[in-house]
Amino acid sequence: MRLNPATEALYESVVGRNPAEAEFHQAVAEVLQSIQPALDRRPELREAALLERLCEPERQVMFRVVWTDDSGRAHVNRGFRVGFSSALGPYKGGLRFHPSVNLGVVKFLAFEQIFKNALTGLGIGAGKGGSDFNPAGRSDGEVMRFCQAYMTELHRHIGPQTDVPAGDIGVGSREIGYLFGQYKRLTNRFDAGTLTGKDLLIGGSLVRPEATGFGTVYFLDAMLAARGHSLEGRTAVLSGSGNVAYHAIAKLHELGATAVACSDSSGYVHDPEGLRLDVLHEVKTVQRRKLDAYAEQVPSATFVRGRVPWDVPCDIALPAATQNELGESDAISLTKNGLLAVAEGANMPCTPEAIRIFQEADVAFAPGKAANAGGVATSALEMQQNASRDRWSFAETDKRLGETMRAIHDTCLATAEAYEQPGDYISGANITGFLTVADAMTTLGLV
Ligand code: GLU
Repeated sequence: MRLNPATEALYESVVGRNPAEAEFHQAVAEVLQSIQPALDRRPELREAALLERLCEPERQVMFRVVWTDDSGRAHVNRGFRVGFSSALGPYKGGLRFHPSVNLGVVKFLAFEQIFKNALTGLGIGAGKGGSDFNPAGRSDGEVMRFCQAYMTELHRHIGPQTDVPAGDIGVGSREIGYLFGQYKRLTNRFDAGTLTGKDLLIGGSLVRPEATGFGTVYFLDAMLAARGHSLEGRTAVLSGSGNVAYHAIAKLHELGATAVACSDSSGYVHDPEGLRLDVLHEVKTVQRRKLDAYAEQVPSATFVRGRVPWDVPCDIALPAATQNELGESDAISLTKNGLLAVAEGANMPCTPEAIRIFQEADVAFAPGKAANAGGVATSALEMQQNASRDRWSFAETDKRLGETMRAIHDTCLATAEAYEQPGDYISGANITGFLTVADAMTTLGLV
């Protein structure tokens, strides 16, 4: 790692104080490394323990969640909510329900959220939460009882001016509905701005379901344009087939590219004629089945069991599943096949080794905290609508999303240039986000 001795000592203390949290260490290392040029130029940002405060969550809550399955058997899961930084606004970030969730994963996600949310310019702090609950194969009733049990503890920690959770892996509008129902019951308040990603019927925003996927493609489009390219006629490969991947595929097709492969935990589907959104929706959302069901229904498609899709030749790779899902050997096979650009739809999906391969091959690279900021940005628009008891049209909300993503792109590019890292969106995103939060922290004094 390229850190100067003072930052290296801080990193070592983060590792020592937060043992066995590899993903958190990884996220901190990347940020400390890339903000070095900003620290060199503004040494006063090393004072008042600013970096130490930045790496220490303001608060962390862990709790027991007890629920019963359909046969009446009791289960115990662990619930988490980390409020990492409220320098720019209420804690804001999603909830993830997945067996891989632990404190280190939640902390890495909340830490990333600090810089992502700062980039949106919409006055939101950073948090993240979730549980090791596995919703796969659970009935609606079981998911509802789990959500109610989870909210029974969480409700005392959240609120529209305090902490505003939303969805992430395993948490969509169904779960947000159950969570909000329980929140409303416990607090005796219809405080719609306490959760985002709600169904339209209970105060949700148009475009919120599409926002992360659309926003990632808006960012990608701007990044290609900055290099004199466009999406027209390009081939894209995605990982994942959930909310982010689905809407990214829709936007890629709308802008003239063809998405030919996507994946889930069982393997990937390759459809050289272009993935069919109607079939994906039916298989993944309606039937809640695995992707082999897609290949059963579409003759041009093949299903490759147990593999990731990165050996399928493409111009654009869009990892949209989960952290550290695209490693060095995947990056080597993608670049060998003539890759032009990568946009991270998920949070930290590419390993540091994979990113190095992309950088060496001059592949345009959009880090998740910039490229996938459209989701949380549209959550902030949902909060605005809830606060004003207003509803915006699809076109108006999508226009704001598009403008936000282009602004994030342009700012990252300009910052990278100003700090002598031209074209490096990782430096651009981390330095911009860091300076925004650091200046706000200084303004707020030692808290
Ligand atoms: N979980 C999403 C993210 O990673 C969205 C968070 C939100 O809307 O608050 O940014």
